[in-house]
Amino acid sequence: MTTGEHPGPMGPFETVGETIGATPMVKIQASPDSVDVFAKLEAFNPGGSIKDRIGLYMLERMLEDGTLDPGGTVIEPTAGNTGIGLAIAANQLGLEAVFIVPERFSVEKQQLMAALGAEIVNTPTEDGMDHAIEVAHELAAQQKNAVVPQQFSNPLNVEAHYATTAPEIYETLDGAVGAVVAGCGTAGTLMGLAKYGDEQPDPPYVTAVQPAGSLFGEFHGEAPEEDEYKTEGIGTHDIDVNQLYEPELVDELITVDDRSIHAEMARLAKQEGHLVASSSAANSLAARQLAEQVATGQLELTHPTIVTVFPDGSDRYLSKGIYGDFEDWVG
Ligand code: PMP
Repeated sequence: MTTGEHPGPMGPFETVGETIGATPMVKIQASPDSVDVFAKLEAFNPGGSIKDRIGLYMLERMLEDGTLDPGGTVIEPTAGNTGIGLAIAANQLGLEAVFIVPERFSVEKQQLMAALGAEIVNTPTEDGMDHAIEVAHELAAQQKNAVVPQQFSNPLNVEAHYATTAPEIYETLDGAVGAVVAGCGTAGTLMGLAKYGDEQPDPPYVTAVQPAGSLFGEFHGEAPEEDEYKTEGIGTHDIDVNQLYEPELVDELITVDDRSIHAEMARLAKQEGHLVASSSAANSLAARQLAEQVATGQLELTHPTIVTVFPDGSDRYLSKGIYGDFEDWVG
């Protein structure tokens, strides 16, 4: 199921875990006539995000290679979609799940993880994510059959996209992929797409996306100015953490500011019917920007087709006022 041989979106399926992947791909209407831009809608996964893919893939492989034995415990410092993805996978595979979550993070997401049977350990907000990571490792060391998957450094994260997201894209478009565009958090998505694409007859133009204030530019010899950003799931404040990002696989890094992203979220909903969150809007803007360059002859692609992902939906961010005024959203 996780190797690009998904039976398709319709089933019938035995369990909800089997519905992970095989998400629909939809054309972004606001792209130029001569260049198609497609987005893969990852909110269609049962946990509502692209992270269901890595949750299932990582745990299945760890069970296969004996890193984790049946009935074991998965422990991850996470506040977001990866927790929900891992919680669904653990639920389906008969594993225990414990998430170490700094208090300030979204209550909605913590409730979803708990509903799936996971245990939540809250750590003080002021101690930050570093402390949550320490607690995860301490807890794992105290147990016999426990792993910390560590999405920021685990190659299985990249492999999950290489094995599922990428072949799905290439199959849907019969191999005619001119560029892949994806916002980078762990960079698992973009690296998986880039590695798969590199093995195709016409490798795609690979574009990374980040919010303004993020430091991915440091990987490319730039000296970006660090700042806070509101866009969630992508960007970095410390590139030492982003161990999966391989700059030599990236042709271009596009930076998008929160204000434009906020406006694009509203536009995608109102004009195109997409209830997607900030990282999707960032990807949409970057992919459309690239499409304009192709349409005006500034950039040549092997195919006039650009593919991006919409990693999750907007419903889990409504309490943060994402559809309100920009000033309210950024607080
Ligand atoms: N968007 C959202 C909403 C996410 O949760 C994530 C994961 N942090 C990403 C984008 C980025 O994906 P990746 O970690 O594969 O770079």
